[in-house]
Amino acid sequence: MILNTPCQHCQQPIEFDDAQINQFVACPACAKQTRLLAVSTPASRREPELDPCPDCGEYISYSALLCPKCGRFCGVTFMMVFQVVCLVTVSYVVLTALGILCKMALAGI
Ligand SMILES: [Zn+2]
Ligand SMILES: [Zn+2]
Repeated sequence: MILNTPCQHCQQPIEFDDAQINQFVACPACAKQTRLLAVSTPASRREPELDPCPDCGEYISYSALLCPKCGRFCGVTFMMVFQVVCLVTVSYVVLTALGILCKMALAGI
């Protein structure tokens, strides 16, 4: 199992195999000797604000417009705005068309 522990000098996270627990290694960031402690979180922890891409399953940010892996357009926030704009536009067009039809009907009478 891959574990993750912060360097005791610079707090840079270091990934290591659980077989290396309590061993001393040179930190890749500051080159000082640091101990690999068992109190750590799994390296594969996902951030809560990430959402899986509907196409390839890659975790992407809510604010991202395009999936960085497959290029699919899947910006959640942008899609919600886009849908509202579409709804407003469609309503406006329908209401305008109805208005014109009413005027035509009135002119016909
Ligand atoms: Zn360090
Ligand atoms: Zn994708």
